[in-house]
Amino acid sequence: MIALSAIEKSFGGNAVLRGIDLAVPEGRVTALIGPSGSGKSTLLRCVNLLEMPRSGTLDLGDIRLTFRPDRPPTRREMLAVRRQTGMVFQNFQLFPHRTVLENVTEGLVTVAKWPQARARARALELLERVGLAHKAGDWPANLSGGQQQRVAIARALAPSPRLLLCDEPTSALDPELAAEVVDVLASLAGEGMTMLMATHDLRLARRVADTVVFLEGGTIVERGPAPDLFAHPKDPRTRRFIRTLL
Ligand code: ADP
Ligand code: MG
Repeated sequence: MIALSAIEKSFGGNAVLRGIDLAVPEGRVTALIGPSGSGKSTLLRCVNLLEMPRSGTLDLGDIRLTFRPDRPPTRREMLAVRRQTGMVFQNFQLFPHRTVLENVTEGLVTVAKWPQARARARALELLERVGLAHKAGDWPANLSGGQQQRVAIARALAPSPRLLLCDEPTSALDPELAAEVVDVLASLAGEGMTMLMATHDLRLARRVADTVVFLEGGTIVERGPAPDLFAHPKDPRTRRFIRTLL
């Protein structure tokens, strides 16, 4: 179980997350939807400590972190959380001067200190899983956007994280290429990967998410099982927002 409780985050005087309580059960997928600026990316970034919440608690497997302005997490805690989370970004963020294979092995070799041969074997296994083993020696720039995002997913999965975070993983892609990425994420979900994703992509959310959470102004307005929330949103703000996605 991944759980966030009472998470608060401000930038200067701007309160961006105002007490977020959210649990993602092991093996389940939660999609965060909400208008631009509602705090979706910040929330994902708080989970892997790219941003530091001001207060609240994060539970990630055996790890529990309680955030306090006067006590930042220790380096050891940060590493433990990062080790358990993989992140996929809207714009892929592959290393341009590394081959596809090296993009996947890089973190295993430099951060996790795996031997090259073991990292290579793991990378090839993951590239196989996202259907790109035949591109292992290519440069990212020679791949389509959909292929680059699939490499980014393989890279995020390399250290076997407990949780995969995806920030609008299909929004930089044409529908046809987005579909490849949706297929990969759906197959991971089918294999029991726990995921928390921000998305505007109804095809992705409908196909992959068990639960949908609607965020506005740093507050959770409504949450529910994906089909229910899309078909029968209760709050007028949710209803209005979902109409804009259709
Ligand atoms: P979303 O992903 O839902 O579009 P974000 O989490 O990116 O929303 O942003 C939420 C709010 O936080 C916005 O008002 C944004 O301007 C602000 N914000 C995000 N990151 C920073 C930052 N690094 N510094 C200052 N303000 C930020
Ligand atoms: Mg965002």
